[in-house]
Amino acid sequence: MNLNININLTNEQKAFVDSTKQFADEHIKNNSLKWDKNAYFPVEVFKKSAELGLAGIYVSEKDGGTGLTRLDASLIFEELAYACPSTSAFLSIHNMTAWMLSKYGNNDLKNKYMKSITSMENVCSYCLTEPGSGSDAIAMKTKGKPDKNNSSLNINGSKSFISGAGVSDLYFVMMKTETSQDNETSCVIVEKNYDGISFGKNEEKMGWKNQPTRVVSFDECTVPYENIVGKPGEGFKIAMQGLDGGRINIASCSLGAARFCIDKCIDYVSERKQFGKFLKEFQSIQFKIADMITDYNAARLMVHEAANALDLKQSDTTIKSAMAKKFATDVCFKICNEALQIHGGYGYLSEYGIEKMVRDCRVHQILEGTNDIMKLIISRDSLKYNK
Ligand SMILES: Cc1cc2nc3c(=O)[nH]c(=O)nc-3n(C[C@H](O)[C@H](O)[C@H](O)COP(=O)(O)OP(=O)(O)OC[C@H]3O[C@@H](n4cnc5c(N)ncnc54)[C@H](O)[C@@H]3O)c2cc1C
Repeated sequence: MNLNININLTNEQKAFVDSTKQFADEHIKNNSLKWDKNAYFPVEVFKKSAELGLAGIYVSEKDGGTGLTRLDASLIFEELAYACPSTSAFLSIHNMTAWMLSKYGNNDLKNKYMKSITSMENVCSYCLTEPGSGSDAIAMKTKGKPDKNNSSLNINGSKSFISGAGVSDLYFVMMKTETSQDNETSCVIVEKNYDGISFGKNEEKMGWKNQPTRVVSFDECTVPYENIVGKPGEGFKIAMQGLDGGRINIASCSLGAARFCIDKCIDYVSERKQFGKFLKEFQSIQFKIADMITDYNAARLMVHEAANALDLKQSDTTIKSAMAKKFATDVCFKICNEALQIHGGYGYLSEYGIEKMVRDCRVHQILEGTNDIMKLIISRDSLKYNK
């Protein structure tokens, strides 16, 4: 690591950042390019990460989690993303669902699933997006119809772009649960082996290649009514609160990628000579690196501020998360792309690891709410409009 970034951390934070780095060095760093090339989803590494407490980072200890803060989680996801943003990002999705159950699930549902989630015996996916509703998520069509006794839900519909789909064991699915009230949305846990759930092809995509992305379809899929997380009708609130943290986590993944690229650049411009000079002797290169470090630091401050707001349950958490997500994912993508340019032709080669960071980070500007939607969230509050 070239950038000295952790000087303000507590000793406890320094210790788990170090142990996360050690884990990433041992299990992720040297495999990430191979996993990317072979579209290999490293489930065994996720399960190993649970031994370190990384499968329920901000789930309370009482619920079997690690009981850390959102700021702690941000530091962890950044460190994992330094080795592989895609691996870190998937773990962040799993953590988001773990938190949703811990925060909103009743004791019976927690007893049924919590332990298997924090141990990663059950890997989890988050299912909000549908083919016809992405940014306008509330327009979802997937429906879970309760039977007469409210003992089961009969689900029909489909979810698209689901990370981990086909491999994950549990699906936290947002759906309409009442035909009479169109806006009643519930969050329901669907097990992979229930009848009536099926998976589309693994989508071919630009980045995040080491995790599958598939359509998940429900055709007369019957689920116990008790699998509703929280109260029926609370699903959209739960999904959105999950995303407040999810956005901070994804932004942290971008920070890790950007820091990796900055470190690579600092080494490269100190070794590479052209026109008889090291690249670092050209002022245009010095200024580019200065901009990259400044942007990275600004993004990190915003992400940490948002994480703190979430920890302190501040009323402007959603806006701060949106601002941090938009700013960090935009500038970190720019940093990775600039790093590729500074490496010249070598940056374009896979073995340097930079082009993968560019590809992986691009999607952070799109998912967990596109950065345009972040602007809607930010401006809506200041301009006081509803839509
Ligand atoms: C690799 C990958 C993994 C994903 N994983 C998951 C997952 O695990 N679970 C899940 O639920 N979803 C997942 N998603 C889906 C992701 O969250 C959506 O793609 C995203 O929310 C955008 O929805 P959309 O693709 O339908 O785009 P649309 O909503 O159709 O948007 C298209 C464009 O229009 C813009 N736009 C839309 N509305 C407005 C507006 N009101 N004002 C201004 N601009 C607007 C958008 O910013 C975007 O540029 C994943 C996506 C990808 C690519």
